[in-house]
Amino acid sequence: MEIDLHTHSSVSDGTEPPAQVIAAAVRAGLDVVALTDHDTVGGWDEAAEAAGALGIGLVRGIEVSCRRDGRSIHLLAYLPSPDDADLEHEMALARESRLTRLDRIVDRLVADDVPITMDQVRAQVAEGATLGRPHLADAMVAAGVVVDRDEAFRRYLHDGSPYYVSHYAPDPVRAVEIVVAAGGAAVIAHPYTDRQLRGVTPELIADLAAAGLLGIEVDHRDHDEAARRELRGLADELGLVVTGSSDYHGAGKSNLIGENRTDPQALEAILAACWGTAYLPA
Ligand code: AMP
Ligand code: ZN
Ligand code: FE
Ligand code: FE
Repeated sequence: MEIDLHTHSSVSDGTEPPAQVIAAAVRAGLDVVALTDHDTVGGWDEAAEAAGALGIGLVRGIEVSCRRDGRSIHLLAYLPSPDDADLEHEMALARESRLTRLDRIVDRLVADDVPITMDQVRAQVAEGATLGRPHLADAMVAAGVVVDRDEAFRRYLHDGSPYYVSHYAPDPVRAVEIVVAAGGAAVIAHPYTDRQLRGVTPELIADLAAAGLLGIEVDHRDHDEAARRELRGLADELGLVVTGSSDYHGAGKSNLIGENRTDPQALEAILAACWGTAYLPA
């Protein structure tokens, strides 16, 4: 069983519609794939239809944006009820505030003579998609300011940049509680991405575990061997499940779908913890 539990479509900041992400998963030889767009369930129906037609298992997920002490933390939510009022409310708040914050980042860029407009950004976003810095990066590429998303992030859009503005996001402990109350399973995404800058600590992960966190995304390209070893040890200590995934974004990142994978037993544990529905192969 080949399983990839973290991908993005154009319903957030991936570059391919959900059905194309599912088709890419099939081509890569995966048996199960999770669609985990940022702060939205907007891609679930299209992904489910494509997964049913192509005979691949789909785990419906969300990558929930969280923030603690000004630092961004991502939480993967698998199979929560999409109708849960608290979850819907948090995602709506995050999506709305993502709009105004991008406006403010554009204002800062313009004040520094970077030629970019919100209209150019909107032209890069699919209808109803969760807006993110990658869309601004795409607009900067289209305007000839940078050559790709990577350069846009490196020069202008990274978390430590003077142009950076954050958006609303719940505290991760609260987010874990909401996901669990909505019948889903919560897994902390790439906890050691930009480790010095973001400052996710074993103590925070222990607090999340106490709040109901089920697992840690260990095998992810942002983690080197030492980080993976440490996180595996921590998962062991805290009784958490270990997952692995690509964090595929289509052409928006060099991550290849299926490049890191999750053990079937870990998926079993996730499914056992949820009362949502998974589309698994017939
Ligand atoms: P935002 O959610 O708007 O704060 O933007 C953060 C998102 O940008 C992350 O979730 C990544 O998907 C994406 N991202 C971060 N760094 C890069 C990069 N260097 N190239 C492409 N995408 C990136
Ligand atoms: Zn993303
Ligand atoms: Fe993430
Ligand atoms: Fe992601």
